[in-house]
Amino acid sequence: MTPRRLEVLRAAVLDPVDGSRTPERRILVEDDRIVAVLGPGDPAPEAFEAATRVDAAGRVVVPGFIDAHVHLLGYESDLGVPGRESPLYVAARAGDLMGAMLRRGFTTVRDVGGADHGLVRAVEEGYLAGPRIFHGGPALSQTGGHGDFRGAGEVCAHSASTALPTIGLVADGVPAVRAAVRNEIRRGARHIKLMLGGGIASPTDRIDSAQFAEEEIRAAVEEARNAGIYVTGHAYTPAAIARALRLGVRCIEHGTLLDDETAGLFVENDAFLVPTLAIGTLLASEESAEFGVPEESRRKAEGIRAAGTEMLRIARDRGVQVVFGTDFIGPMHRFQSREFAVRAEVLPALDILRSATVTAARLLGEEGELGRIAEGYLADLLVLDVDPLEDIAALAEPERSVATVISRGRVVEG
Ligand SMILES: [Zn+2]
Repeated sequence: MTPRRLEVLRAAVLDPVDGSRTPERRILVEDDRIVAVLGPGDPAPEAFEAATRVDAAGRVVVPGFIDAHVHLLGYESDLGVPGRESPLYVAARAGDLMGAMLRRGFTTVRDVGGADHGLVRAVEEGYLAGPRIFHGGPALSQTGGHGDFRGAGEVCAHSASTALPTIGLVADGVPAVRAAVRNEIRRGARHIKLMLGGGIASPTDRIDSAQFAEEEIRAAVEEARNAGIYVTGHAYTPAAIARALRLGVRCIEHGTLLDDETAGLFVENDAFLVPTLAIGTLLASEESAEFGVPEESRRKAEGIRAAGTEMLRIARDRGVQVVFGTDFIGPMHRFQSREFAVRAEVLPALDILRSATVTAARLLGEEGELGRIAEGYLADLLVLDVDPLEDIAALAEPERSVATVISRGRVVEG
């Protein structure tokens, strides 16, 4: 079969590794892969005469963005809702969220609670439009932890025996944790997410609570390692972060209350930090009530909002590997790209661009596949109306800054 061919013409290609821009490139794509990046003098293979053409004159072309913290089932602000709904309805809502993420320029996402192998397959086979998904199944939580979405008066929680899609799953004790991890590995998980401390969206825990016993965390890390994947942990406080990194957890979600000493542990352990700041700012605002966010969650977010920018500063000064993540929920998803603007208050543009491309690719174990524009890489490309190194905050409004999204070698419509 003849391959599908696409050519991006007159592209100024930005390499997130060193921030260099190379003008007047022709990016040649066959099926879902970049087969060559040519200069003006280079002859193009004849086969490309009939290729689909995207003219990028006057624009900057960057690799598709990676959002390393999403919940594709999080169509409601109450994260317990999808676990109580028809899975078919949940899939339809996930499809809607995914299509919108793709159009914003997120061509890859890491789902840290919710997405399953079925959703991954539906996108890979082209039945749903969406980003590439790196999933871990539901986030594992102890009873009363951040992945236990029951109110204090409710009895049943989702446990490892369920096959239904849900954002959180309760497992207590080493055997239950091992069984839950093994079950997610069986279902194709690319990582395992553990809730290792309190959070904002959970109704019954304190943000500063520690969650899971050390032996439970150790068991999850061992099972994940046995299967060649890693554990990522939800944690805000230095105590929860330090404990996780010491026990072999490779990545920390949020990390909002990070201090200098704990930041050093990331470097020592070659671990990753995925801050999610824009959602915190929005949750803490009076606006959040409009989006169905309970007052209890708003107060929790308010309590830690200021810490976020300080965390970025500490992480930057310590040389922590920072990855782009957002964690938007419910109707707030449309503000997903605001994360670029919030980070721009502290970080240089190139650091932010790297966090959403090459550094994220390293976290996913996809170096050489994702995060750069070069021969052999997957053809996920964005044609931008702005130069992100001059105005990265402009990416907060994708409708103005992202001209064309190319995903798997195809132009994304609409
Ligand atoms: Zn989350």
